[in-house]
Amino acid sequence: MKPEVSHALPHDAALQIVVVEDSPDYGALVQAMLLEHWPGAFNIHAFDRIELATGWLAENTAGCVLLDLSLPDADGLDGVNRIQHVAGDVPIVVLSGNDDEQLALEAVKGGVQDYLLKRSVDGPLLARAVRYAIERRRAELELSHLALHDALTGLPNRVLFEDRLELAFARAARAQDGGRVAVLFLDLDRFKLVNDSLGHAAGDEMLVEVSNRIAGVMRPTDTVARFGGDEFAVLCEQIGHPRELIAVAERIRAAVAAPMQVRRREMFVTASIGIALAEQPNPHAETVLRNADTAMYRAKDHGGIEMFDRRLQAAIAERLKLEHDLHRALRDGQLRLHYQPLISVDGGRMRGVEALVRWQHPEHGLLQPIEFIPLAEETGLIDQLGDWVMNEACQQLARWQSDGRAIEVSVNVSPRQLRPALADRVAGVIDSTGVHPPRLCLEITESQAVGDDAETMLTIERLKGLGVKIAIDDFGSGYSTLTYLNRLPLDQLKIDRSFVTGVDLDPHKLQVLSALIALAEALGVTAVAEGVEEEGDLTRLRAMGCDAAQGFCLGRPVPPGEIDALLNNGA
Ligand code: C2E
Ligand code: MG
Ligand code: MG
Repeated sequence: MKPEVSHALPHDAALQIVVVEDSPDYGALVQAMLLEHWPGAFNIHAFDRIELATGWLAENTAGCVLLDLSLPDADGLDGVNRIQHVAGDVPIVVLSGNDDEQLALEAVKGGVQDYLLKRSVDGPLLARAVRYAIERRRAELELSHLALHDALTGLPNRVLFEDRLELAFARAARAQDGGRVAVLFLDLDRFKLVNDSLGHAAGDEMLVEVSNRIAGVMRPTDTVARFGGDEFAVLCEQIGHPRELIAVAERIRAAVAAPMQVRRREMFVTASIGIALAEQPNPHAETVLRNADTAMYRAKDHGGIEMFDRRLQAAIAERLKLEHDLHRALRDGQLRLHYQPLISVDGGRMRGVEALVRWQHPEHGLLQPIEFIPLAEETGLIDQLGDWVMNEACQQLARWQSDGRAIEVSVNVSPRQLRPALADRVAGVIDSTGVHPPRLCLEITESQAVGDDAETMLTIERLKGLGVKIAIDDFGSGYSTLTYLNRLPLDQLKIDRSFVTGVDLDPHKLQVLSALIALAEALGVTAVAEGVEEEGDLTRLRAMGCDAAQGFCLGRPVPPGEIDALLNNGA
């Protein structure tokens, strides 16, 4: 059905119609024709100079402008441009004399809504032209709004944001007051999880709430945009000191982090924010946005807010290279496993070893896990790396086994690997290497095992079902509850070295450590103390009845051949 034009007329009591026409007679004629044929209420404001009309338009809102194309102070399209400059949204109908129809057509191309030839205008035609002009302008504005805004949140989209950014650059360059332009790039943490677990409708609801919260803590003149997905951008102008930006980012983070109701559930979401200042001179929208994006990625690993700078750029480049190198390392066999002894506290026998991965990097030498495990976890390479470690460690265990060595091998498992499929992989490796499952111990860090994540529980139970042992690594450093400890089928607690190293000289540490050992005993699992660096610490552990210990004073991580040597020497 075609909408009836008159329904869509402005609801205002009276429409303000501006007539710019230097001939008083023609002006009066227009007024008379409208009076007769216009269905609604209106006021006419007639001006004979463009300057007077633009003066009025700068202060008032017009419903429509009827514009003569030849005026004493504006000729041709100049008049159109000047009206559009002060009142960009107003519909314009140009009135042209016989000789400038070509010009009128140009004006339509330049954005006016209609033109009428003065000599053939009559009342109905004029009234209809005004109505259509109003409607057409409204539709145009609607369309351009759609093209420039995000449909879900109504916020500006990337296109409009970039446009405003360019305008801000221009303003800053003109102002020359040292005020700078900056972009904040915001991404919600683990938003995908919300979408995947609660559905897209809930995700959308959350995004709308988040957008309101961001806008709520910004000035109305700041631009807050949604770039799609869970990405938002904020444009800040007139920044004196970068500190101010950190304060803005903190305000946004706090607003987003407050609990929210989504589908009648209480939800929490956090945001990571990257900040980039426009470079000077000659800033580029694309560069500033890319820098803010880079800083945001960095913010994901560094507690939420990060400011872009040159050093960061260098670090990112370095990281990209490392990631590339790590791919190659897996392919070209640059990874190694070192083994660190686990010693029985009474008796001093080597009861097992922990496999610790190293990377023999062609340029950087032997890299420690801290230098590449986090990267592998973020990039997903940890699955491949973990598989390699599991396979390599089990092959080594199989060798020791066939040499008649009664030692266990412990393998570290990353949170990301801890999914039900891991059990199948481990089963495959046990099969292919022929290791005796109870000789293999999997170390899970405390934080992973926490909570009642059903998938994690299922994985651990499946692993346990294979007959392997399960250890909680770095125990005490996470946030565990005793309930979860009770529920997990555990064999070992590896007490974090922060409770162990230097225990001999620290009575408070001694108390905590003895409580942790007692807890392991109560749970019926083996207590292993990590980070034993001094003989004195070991003596304490013995006195407290700790089962096993690991640490530099008992043996550093070494290549497997050196473990053989130790075993041969009767360790
Ligand atoms: P972790 O599992 O807690 O391993 C023990 C770490 O403590 C090792 O560091 C070891 O060298 C160090 N250590 C041992 N004794 C002492 C001591 O007396 N004093 C001190 N200060 N440190 C000691 P490393 O080899 O650098 O490994 C660090 C972490 O990297 C490991 O902590 C583990 O979480 C992770 N990691 C190592 N290899 C792998 C692997 O193959 N896969 C995964 N996912 N993570 C691994
Ligand atoms: Mg470990
Ligand atoms: Mg540990």
